This record gives sequence, C-alpha cells and structure tokens, in this order.
Amino acid sequence: MPQQTLAIIKPDAVKKRVVGKIITRIEDEGFTIARLKLVHLSPDEAKGFYAVHKEKKFFSSLTEFMSSGPVVVMALEAEDAIRRWREVMGATDPALAAPGTLRRLYGFSIERNAVHGSDATETAEWEVGYFFKKKP
Ligand code: ATP
Ligand code: MG
Repeated sequence: MPQQTLAIIKPDAVKKRVVGKIITRIEDEGFTIARLKLVHLSPDEAKGFYAVHKEKKFFSSLTEFMSSGPVVVMALEAEDAIRRWREVMGATDPALAAPGTLRRLYGFSIERNAVHGSDATETAEWEVGYFFKKKP
C-alpha cells in the first residue's frame, strides 16, 4: 500500500523561487502529489505544527521563520514515502546534507533548510491532517 508523507517547501525556498525545481524533483523521484496548497501560516499555526519542538531553544526562531512568508504544503504518496522523501531532502543541516539532496542544493542554514518531511507513520498522519481535511 502506498504511504503518505507531508512535505513543505519552506518560506526560504519559496522566496528563492525554487518551488518549480523542487516539485519537478518530487515528480521525477516518482512521488504522486495527492494534495497541494500554498499557505501563509500565522505564528500560532506554525507553533501548533511544530509543537513537538516547543521546549527546544530554536522554537521561537523556527516558528517566526515558518510564518515569515508563504509555504507550499503537499501530501506525497509512494511506497515507503516517508523514508524516501527524507532521503531526497537530505540531512537537517544543509552543510552536512549529501550532494544532490534538496537541502544541500537549496538550503541556507540548519533552520532555513528549504523543505520539511514527516519522520514516522503516526506523525505523517497527524501532519497531513493538520493541513488537509479528510476527503468525504
Ligand atoms: P523537518 O522536521 O523540518 O523535516 P528534521 O526532521 O530534519 O526537519 P527536526 O529535528 O525535526 O529536523 O527539526 C525541525 C526543524 O527545526 C528543522 O527542519 C529546522 O528548520 C529547525 N531546526 C532543527 N534543528 C535546529 C537548530 N539546531 N537550530 C535552528 N533550527 C533548527
Ligand atoms: Mg522533523
């Protein structure tokens, strides 16, 4: 059964005008885009999404960044989508991400790292539900 993961093209990448390049890569890697929208998160929406990180020292900076401009939110579908999308993104810190990964190509710093991906089946389900209503 194909799996779903939540992908976000973060404000830094939208501002850099690399949305098209990232979506082309997503399609070339064999993911199906099941849902897609452009949204400008409020600070509270960003805090809600990253609630698991609320104790981290980078939380307020991260949520300010994530609400600083529009983001593109997608539900991606593929076999093993969660693991594969994280592989295409690369390591959290663009400086440590493997050559050719999206974060290496388009990320600026450990915070402004171009893309987000869910990290497990439960979080993927929760994250897709955070942005997209279930189809009737
Ligand atoms: P994401 O959840 O966005 O896919 P990730 O799972 O690789 O990334 P997490 O540890 O979940 O990394 O951190 C969530 C986000 O918080 C990172 O993508 C990054 O934008 C930011 N972040 C993580 N670590 C740091 C840090 N040390 N300093 C600043 N920002 C950070
Ligand atoms: Mg994460």
